[in-house]
Amino acid sequence: MHPPFSYSHVIYLHTLPISVYNNFMPLYNVWIEHSALDLNQTFTYSSESVLQRGMRVKVPFNHRDLGAVIMGPAEPSSLDQTKIKPISEIIDEQPLLNDELFDLAAYISDTYVSSMMSCFKTMLPPALRPQLRHAPIVYEDWFIRQESKQPLTKKGQERWTELKELLPMKASEFRKLAKSHAKTYLEKGYIKIEKRKKRPEAMFIEKEDQAVALTLEQKTAIQTILHSKNDVFLLHGVTGSGKTEVFMQLAKQAIDQGKQVLFLVPEIGLTPMMISRVRSRFKQNIAIYHSQMSASEKYHQYQKVKNDEVQIVVGTRSACFMPFSNLGLILMDEEHDTSYKQDSMPRYHTRDVVLWRGKRHHCKVVLASATPSLESYARAYRNVYELVELKHRISKTMPNIHMIDLREEEMIQGFSKQLLDAIALRLQKKEQVILLLNRRGYLPVVKCQNCQEVITCPDCGIALSYHKSNDSLMCHCCGTIYRFDHTCPHCGSKHFFDRGMGTEKLEQHIAALFPQAHIIRMDADSTRKKDAHTKLLEQFEKEGDILIGTQMVAKGLDFPNVTLVGILQADAGLVRTDYRANEIAYEMIEQASGRAGRAEKEGEVMIQTFDPHHYVMESVIHHNYKEFFAKEMQYRHLGSYPPYVFMATIVFSHDDEQKAKQVAVKAKQQLHDARVLGPIEISMRMKKKRVRLLVKDKDRRHLETILWKLVHELERSNVKMEINMHPLMLEE
Ligand code: ADP
Ligand code: ZN
Ligand code: ZN
Repeated sequence: MHPPFSYSHVIYLHTLPISVYNNFMPLYNVWIEHSALDLNQTFTYSSESVLQRGMRVKVPFNHRDLGAVIMGPAEPSSLDQTKIKPISEIIDEQPLLNDELFDLAAYISDTYVSSMMSCFKTMLPPALRPQLRHAPIVYEDWFIRQESKQPLTKKGQERWTELKELLPMKASEFRKLAKSHAKTYLEKGYIKIEKRKKRPEAMFIEKEDQAVALTLEQKTAIQTILHSKNDVFLLHGVTGSGKTEVFMQLAKQAIDQGKQVLFLVPEIGLTPMMISRVRSRFKQNIAIYHSQMSASEKYHQYQKVKNDEVQIVVGTRSACFMPFSNLGLILMDEEHDTSYKQDSMPRYHTRDVVLWRGKRHHCKVVLASATPSLESYARAYRNVYELVELKHRISKTMPNIHMIDLREEEMIQGFSKQLLDAIALRLQKKEQVILLLNRRGYLPVVKCQNCQEVITCPDCGIALSYHKSNDSLMCHCCGTIYRFDHTCPHCGSKHFFDRGMGTEKLEQHIAALFPQAHIIRMDADSTRKKDAHTKLLEQFEKEGDILIGTQMVAKGLDFPNVTLVGILQADAGLVRTDYRANEIAYEMIEQASGRAGRAEKEGEVMIQTFDPHHYVMESVIHHNYKEFFAKEMQYRHLGSYPPYVFMATIVFSHDDEQKAKQVAVKAKQQLHDARVLGPIEISMRMKKKRVRLLVKDKDRRHLETILWKLVHELERSNVKMEINMHPLMLEE
């Protein structure tokens, strides 16, 4: 059974014959831009023009003009044609989405219970999104040479003979060279201005990067992937096992066969070092696509792929929607990373998209990680994916792990003596240290000593953190910054507890303890500006002694001189109530540990914990992913959590909690043939009270069907309902 307006429905409409009736204009079905999910259906309009699937138009709807996308020709028979309104405006001459991307939108809409329009918007670069009239293409001034007989000064003439050879040239660059002469040449007609489309080329430091001699393990992995009959692989390689090199050589194979390659990396993984590495291997054959690019940069990269000008695309999540014509390989690095799931509609997971596209293009898909997601490993375990392993580091040895039992240690400003000694030793040896504390700001909670109240965010209801750098309070949930006058809003007291520590406070302590050390802090606050992340890493590589930071410092870094990693509060993640808390904690600790001793020098990891015998810690000590997997699967089985079931959350929000709850209860009644937990109250968002239902189902398709049914059948109200399919966290 398919839900109404589902994928199957889309295919059905598409295959209808075009019928043009003599006295009537051709009819088209369109998807309209409307936020109500129950309007996720096509509507029929007429047009004199011949329109193709995937073109943007404007249509009148409820006395407004709405953006819309052509689905295809409509069958006129059952409709009263006198009531059909004409399309008011045609925006595109060519379809924006090819057939594959159109089908992909339908697949995402269907499986993530989201509107087709939200899928189109997500898939296209901002400049091409449906709501915009025309792509805002940025123009820049260029100088073009032209004939002129007007007299120049001697100096002006001399410069002109040199400069004219350089034209045409970007006006801003020419002005830099010609200085005051530029104005004269322009006035006397030697040059004229022409507007040209801006084609931004980001600057990259070209590093020479050549293919290295592979280890036997790397070779075997590549041969297995190339010659296997299977299509999807899970490359499970321990940290520092050389996965990137395996990727590069697989990519080269595909490119040599004239095919295209998609190379996905997580949000934080796309550093200019990575880009320059891939670029120097594949030269100009490459497009880069990531979230920090401007709209015009994205547009330009998108066009390059569309025009078949490139063979490899390196990018973050949204690069999975590039308009490839001939994909030969998809690589997804750090497949466990949560940045692969979009946290707004449609809340798709990149893994699902690449598996779908891999099938469509008949190409291989390689998912890789040192700490695979439980879902992926379980699939490899059941031979849905083929498991390929890299069990050894290039440097041969895994770092030594020491658990420091905080119940038995005397602490100095958050540090055990052992960890302080170890840091001092590295500094002496001119080696580098990474310290992980997964909490930013100065104080995580501001609590009044007098009335014991905690200061909370009025919009979200959760505790605010104190940030010393700007002397303010910040909500880590909604990002709002509040002025702080160091007075309790409840009782007026000026005394607060100084308990707990974030990265800011850690930086201050470590600077006091090791005044000679060059310390670099990396967290969401210090990396807010564009490129700040990269600059801090470059700085650390060149001259840093200690890098401190949140889980950001656990991800992907490859510095040969780092020999010590310290994890300050390893259990912070284990006390969370979320079903994936242990998986996230394991990932973070194992990945952070993996930053130590990646080259010749041996690495050491110190983990401060109250619970050294927790199975997460024991698996980390032995670098034993399989042990972790087995234990965690038992827990998931007991609690009926993924990968044993498929889940969705439905969040209802309203000013009045009772109203939200009433609608949730109604929804629960309608979902009687699934397992539904709740409603429970969860933290507020944007001043709205929220309640949540958790739906579990063993059958993914059935889960989608009942949720679509709910969308269409639940009585409309002013309670907002948001569905999150396969949530990575329950409270988002
Ligand atoms: P992973 O992604 O598996 O953690 P990387 O791909 O970053 O590991 O590789 C770890 C380090 O080993 C890198 O500095 C890389 O340049 C180096 N490396 C990879 N393969 C080889 C090889 N065959 N010979 C020598 N060095 C290698
Ligand atoms: Zn108080
Ligand atoms: Zn907030």
